[in-house]
Amino acid sequence: MEDNFGRNIHYLRLSVTDKCNLRCIYCMPETGVTKLRHEDILTIEEIAEIVQAAADCGINKIRITGGEPLVRKGIIDICRQIAATKGIQEVCLTSNGILLPKFVKELKEAGVNRLNISLDSLNSETYKEITRRDLFDEAMIGVKTAIDAAFDSIKINTVLIGGVNDKDILEILELTKKHNVNVRFIEIMPIGECANWVDGRFISAEYVKKLAPQLYEVGTDGVSKLYKLPDGQGTVGLISPISSHFCPTCNRIRITADGMLKPCLHSHEEVSIKGLKGKELVETIRNTIYNKPKRHELNEDGQSQSQRNMNKIGG
Ligand code: SAM
Ligand code: SF4
Repeated sequence: MEDNFGRNIHYLRLSVTDKCNLRCIYCMPETGVTKLRHEDILTIEEIAEIVQAAADCGINKIRITGGEPLVRKGIIDICRQIAATKGIQEVCLTSNGILLPKFVKELKEAGVNRLNISLDSLNSETYKEITRRDLFDEAMIGVKTAIDAAFDSIKINTVLIGGVNDKDILEILELTKKHNVNVRFIEIMPIGECANWVDGRFISAEYVKKLAPQLYEVGTDGVSKLYKLPDGQGTVGLISPISSHFCPTCNRIRITADGMLKPCLHSHEEVSIKGLKGKELVETIRNTIYNKPKRHELNEDGQSQSQRNMNKIGG
């Protein structure tokens, strides 16, 4: 449906857990998170009802995220249920890849069409520095298993962190030569764990083009400008949520694992939909979409106004 500013809102990012098997330095505290109480997490039945209500409001694409969605108990049933919802045409999942070897086949059978895998380095030491876990080999097996499983699309997402993984950019770009994957470089956003990071850690997506001037533009997919290497099979996406706003074309809403509907990533505005049913649930979603803020406003110090860490929102 259209919001108050004429934008077509048809994409829901649904977090199914805030737990994770990694502890990425920009996303989660080293000590992990205070566990949500079991009764505060959306149940599988509540997720089904919310997704149907969202579809009734014009949502046709769902991204299942987290935390790490593959640590959520019953994740395959959740995916299957979402894929079977009337009106939902695309089911995507974002994962860090560690558990993909266990789940990839079932995910595909359950109706997940598209996978995004987060991979911030191809160097095991840097991977460990970023994720605070020694699981690089497992992540790489996950990426390979996903590529072999031939989903409709595989995207590899790399968050750019100055002084940490900038030296790995060219190697990550090379993945598009070997495989038909879309590698996307994402500017780090000043939210949660990294809200107070110094400017030196920020690298603009444009920097990737400076490093690899042979990249040539092939179009856009909404949030990213797309490029290719001259001998590349896959594409390279550059995502600049910070250096260029994409609020005027924003098409999405978010729901947290505890059932808070967020109309804008960087706004503190949240509407609780846990426990709502039937018409009241549909009307609450419809009103929240309609009143989605025009654009996000960062605080004067450049920080996001959202009070949550990214593992609680889902990216
Ligand atoms: N655990 C899954 C994963 O890492 O793919 C899904 C959840 S994670 C919160 C979703 C995405 O958000 C990841 O690609 C992650 O790199 C990104 N992310 C987390 N914090 C971020 C930040 N401050 N700026 C930009 N991207 C961020
Ligand atoms: Fe976990 Fe994803 Fe956050 Fe990393 S980015 S800590 S994998 S939720």
